[in-house]
Amino acid sequence: MMLRFREDTGQPLSVHQWGSIKLARTEEDEPQLREEIDRGHALGVEVGPIDPATARAMVPWLVADRALAMWYAPGDLFLDPADLPRAYAAALANEGGRIIEHAEVTGFHISGRAVEAVQTTLGTVEAPVVVSAAGAWSRKVGELVGARLPLWPIRHQLLITEPLKEVADGQPSVRIMDAKTYVRPERGGLLFGGYEPDPLQIDLRAQPPSFDISDTPIDEGPLRRKLAEVAEEMPLLQEAPIAEVRGGLPTMTPDGHFIVDRLPDVDGFFVLTGCNVGGLSTSPALGDDLAEWIVGGHRPAALEPFGLGRFGSEYDDEDRLREACFATYAHKYDQGETVAH
Ligand SMILES: Cc1cc2nc3c(=O)[nH]c(=O)nc-3n(C[C@H](O)[C@H](O)[C@H](O)COP(=O)(O)OP(=O)(O)OC[C@H]3O[C@@H](n4cnc5c(N)ncnc54)[C@H](O)[C@@H]3O)c2cc1C
Repeated sequence: MMLRFREDTGQPLSVHQWGSIKLARTEEDEPQLREEIDRGHALGVEVGPIDPATARAMVPWLVADRALAMWYAPGDLFLDPADLPRAYAAALANEGGRIIEHAEVTGFHISGRAVEAVQTTLGTVEAPVVVSAAGAWSRKVGELVGARLPLWPIRHQLLITEPLKEVADGQPSVRIMDAKTYVRPERGGLLFGGYEPDPLQIDLRAQPPSFDISDTPIDEGPLRRKLAEVAEEMPLLQEAPIAEVRGGLPTMTPDGHFIVDRLPDVDGFFVLTGCNVGGLSTSPALGDDLAEWIVGGHRPAALEPFGLGRFGSEYDDEDRLREACFATYAHKYDQGETVAH
């Protein structure tokens, strides 16, 4: 969908289809990596095993000699994250849609059991259908209609180095499974991110209303520890000057899958959340399927796994929910984890 974005929406979207490499260093990860190749083939994805020399030829700063197995997927792509919502917003405006910026949703008008309007700080908007895609604030917005959404916002961070002479546009991204890290070229340097074993969790219901994602406390320490874990594979990164560290609050669910559903008790009210750090790459497909549900009246089969009903009452217990979401984050890339970061 990203590759044919202009065709579908009339808006340009700049994507970098530089491919990606995934590397297994442990005996536990090796079979999973091979399984992913089979799974990719079953889905028609171009992906296959490569050896260290081939990897090195594509990514000169990668020392892959210790790898037990690697795959390469030439079709993988990335984009500047802000470009995607910007392009969708422009496409919406083109179709006569209107975006009301800086309007905080403060409540909903419900008649009987159906939603009728959204109350905001800039006025009330009549709406027989509402989709709450409030990210880290999803629980807070859900509570406005009495819904309890099983997720937790967790800090995710990355760093970008100053330009490095060994790095060039076109080099694939690299993920190292057991270290739960990813690296790719960015602004002439390298962008490096990783899943911390003890990530910071933030309950936005307990934060002041003025809290913005940019208020997320940033800590270089966990990223430095992640860098050390891949010192052998990426010696270049160890001493590279850091230009920027940034982070945000993706929402984790107990099973690592999205929440895309209609609330059982409020007609016309849909939720789209629980991104599990994969919300950017999957949002076009999820949005498309959700639109099909709203317009056609039937839930597409592809959305069936993401219903709220799959969570048992055990997650009514706040500590249990928090622990489960924490574990989902800390075990990213492990067996059974299917969401691209
Ligand atoms: C460092 C980092 C790296 C990442 N890398 C990737 C990646 O490689 N691939 C990938 O797919 N994903 C990645 N992600 C995750 C991706 O950014 C998220 O999945 C995505 O932003 C989630 O989108 P969202 O719409 O659910 O939430 P958000 O983008 O957080 O949007 C929620 C919006 O709701 C608004 N809102 C909240 N409450 C209210 C209210 N009461 N009234 C009105 N508006 C409200 C907020 O202001 C916000 O604009 C990364 C995230 C981080 C932090």
